[in-house]
Amino acid sequence: MKKLYTHENRMIIFNLKNVMQGEGIKSMVMNEYSSGGAGDLATFDTWPELWIEDDDQFDRAEIILKNIVLNTCGDDWFCRGCQEKNDASFKLCWRCGHSI
Ligand SMILES: [Zn+2]
Repeated sequence: MKKLYTHENRMIIFNLKNVMQGEGIKSMVMNEYSSGGAGDLATFDTWPELWIEDDDQFDRAEIILKNIVLNTCGDDWFCRGCQEKNDASFKLCWRCGHSI
């Protein structure tokens, strides 16, 4: 099992898990409940993590991830589907899965 991605927003991790599932890739969420409480700054190593269960599927998962996550530091954006504010580094709405 290999760690694919980590993000402070666990909704993004779960959204990503759904995307992987849709591609037939089995994944697991770790640190799901260990983020800091309200008002706390969660440290990086307690962010929720997405792990790919099958090492043979990891390379493909990484390619899928690259198609979703942008490596730019642009502005946050608002979803056209549900008006939710989304992180600039993510191409899919964490809430409804709508693309940018
Ligand atoms: Zn949305």
